[in-house]
Amino acid sequence: MLYIFISFLLLLSSAFSYISTNFNNIKCQYIVNIPNNYTIYSSDNEEFYIKYIYGKLNTKPNTSSNSQVSKSIKSKNNNQITNPNMSQKKVYLTFDDGPSKLTLEVLKVLDEHQVKATFFVVGSKCESYHYVINKIKSSGHALGLHSYSHNYSILYSNFENFYNEMKRTQEIIKNITGDEVNIIRFPGGSYKRLNKDFYNYLENLNFKIYDWNLSCGDGTSPTPSSEQMFINSTENYNKYKDIILLMHSRDTDKNTLETLPKIIEFYKSKNYKFEVITKETPEYIFPFK
Ligand SMILES: [Zn+2]
Repeated sequence: MLYIFISFLLLLSSAFSYISTNFNNIKCQYIVNIPNNYTIYSSDNEEFYIKYIYGKLNTKPNTSSNSQVSKSIKSKNNNQITNPNMSQKKVYLTFDDGPSKLTLEVLKVLDEHQVKATFFVVGSKCESYHYVINKIKSSGHALGLHSYSHNYSILYSNFENFYNEMKRTQEIIKNITGDEVNIIRFPGGSYKRLNKDFYNYLENLNFKIYDWNLSCGDGTSPTPSSEQMFINSTENYNKYKDIILLMHSRDTDKNTLETLPKIIEFYKSKNYKFEVITKETPEYIFPFK
């Protein structure tokens, strides 16, 4: 009995240290991963994080089998079967600000390496690149919404502008591909742009939001070298189980294109599975302002 009580105390203390460690970590990394059907009880950031961490601690691993992963779950050494969802790490390669001619080059590299990615596209650019949008779809990649104008002063002046731009881009993609796309990425990220009310508003409109936890740095000026982009994209990979990597595919993103094969090879060597973001993917959002 005493043993059970001591074990319980130990478990409780480790749970609390886990909470505080991760709480600080999440705060400084600006990362909150909101599980499906998660209710936000308070607009207070800290309460929100703590409730999320508690939710995470109580989450049981999903034991449903996935035929693709199941093929690789037999251990080479002892032939024992392990739960694939416990160990399978995922990387989501994401490319913003396309489509462009360079997007086609990116598609070629992804195809050569047989991996899939997600493209958050700008509506105003889609009009002249229907063939690129179609190519993204026909190659098995995912499309996401990244506003119509990418002009922060218009886009972020009020909720209505933001919604209208996302909706307009959604309609353009639907006209080209026939698909209704609901996944969105805020230009510049949602940090300091999203709050509880705005989140609930977008949620009610069926939009799912995706920020990132690693960035290759191609959105900064001056553009980093290819070597630096590789470092940015990989050096902190083991801080996260699943990685959402931010990259861009504008015509100017030549260093990104050059670095991409090395990034793919790196994550292949670490046994990551390359996935696309769909509306079923748990949202990944920076802290609310
Ligand atoms: Zn952007």
